[in-house]
Amino acid sequence: MKAVVYQGPERIEVQEVDDPRIEAPTDVVVRITTTAICGSDLHMYEGRTAAEPGIVFGHENLGVVEEVGQGVTTVRQGDRVVLPFNVACGFCRNCRAKNTAFCLTVNPGAAGGAYGYVGMGPYRGGQAEYLRVPFADFNCVQLPPGEEHENDFAMLADIFATGYHATEMADVNPGESVAVYGAGPVGLMAAYSALIRGAATVFVVDKVANRLRLAESIGAIPIDYSAGDPNEQIQDRNNGRTDKGIDAVGYQATVSEGEEQPALVLNNLVETVRATGALGVVGLYLTSDPGGPDENAREGRLLFDIGKFFEKGLRMGTGQANSKVYSEFLRDLIIAGRAEPSFVVSRELPLREAPDAYARFDRREEGYSKVVLKP
Ligand code: NAD
Ligand code: ZN
Repeated sequence: MKAVVYQGPERIEVQEVDDPRIEAPTDVVVRITTTAICGSDLHMYEGRTAAEPGIVFGHENLGVVEEVGQGVTTVRQGDRVVLPFNVACGFCRNCRAKNTAFCLTVNPGAAGGAYGYVGMGPYRGGQAEYLRVPFADFNCVQLPPGEEHENDFAMLADIFATGYHATEMADVNPGESVAVYGAGPVGLMAAYSALIRGAATVFVVDKVANRLRLAESIGAIPIDYSAGDPNEQIQDRNNGRTDKGIDAVGYQATVSEGEEQPALVLNNLVETVRATGALGVVGLYLTSDPGGPDENAREGRLLFDIGKFFEKGLRMGTGQANSKVYSEFLRDLIIAGRAEPSFVVSRELPLREAPDAYARFDRREEGYSKVVLKP
């Protein structure tokens, strides 16, 4: 089958690889119909991780079940399913506590499991024609048959769930005001989720014009940080009363070239959010191990203003989203016509165009805010 294979920094190719097969009785094999490119893939793509050439990318996958292992009881051939990006067992201590991003069975280290991601277990990605899904009874989320809402449902695998997770960690309540840093697909989904939860005012900070326009299109207030201190811009509009904050940028801000803003958006949020407010951090920070792959990420950690954070009595939640936990009720919102997360999708392309699509998404080109591939 064909798959998107990492070759080295800023190089991927669509290559022929072995077809996946059932390896454990609890596996299924899914024929992928939609698979999205994520900002998280860019960390590997840009060469800032320990990813080795040969990895098949792709953790935002949806498709139709093709083959079913003998130990699978609830999933049948022909079922249309979306696959939450965290591979999880469903029965370990963390999974039972709904912390499926930290499954102790698939990856006893801190990072949990994921499809096609360095350091997150041996699972191949789904930017390919087929994908093996372990612990299929747990990892397949059932969808209505057919093709309706294909791109909406594809957003459940990661970014819609991740955006919602950010609002959960930030404890966003009806009537509150929320500052979201980053208008990438994840930041947009966090803003969208905050509005679904009844937030009265949502600010979205970025400098990429077409992404800020998308934020405005859902009813958020765009803040262009290239036009001046984003914190001051928010305070001016909001009388210093922002209840909650979301970081949907992560370490990337610490490595952006020519930035005049503080390198760590977390410090902006500590400044912006009122005392005793809460922060949800879904933007990814790489490991800060001495000798770890990213020197900038290590420095980023050292710049965090813990003093101000403590003084204001703030709370903060971090980490990968427990996507399985949210994907079922967010799916039902889509089915009920109350959510349409595919508003972020700007391009549908065949798998063979993945190399060009990665390059353009990486440059944040207009029209490449969220790319879905159709194998
Ligand atoms: P993206 O790269 O498309 O978006 C990041 C956005 O941040 C860009 O639009 C960029 O212009 C903006 N930005 C950069 N520096 C900024 C600054 N100083 N202030 C404000 N905005 C700034 O990526 P994405 O797909 O939206 O993902 C965002 C982050 O979320 C990534 O780090 C990704 O790895 C992470 N992520 C986490 C999870 C999770 O489970 N926690 C899941 C998916 C993605
Ligand atoms: Zn993703």
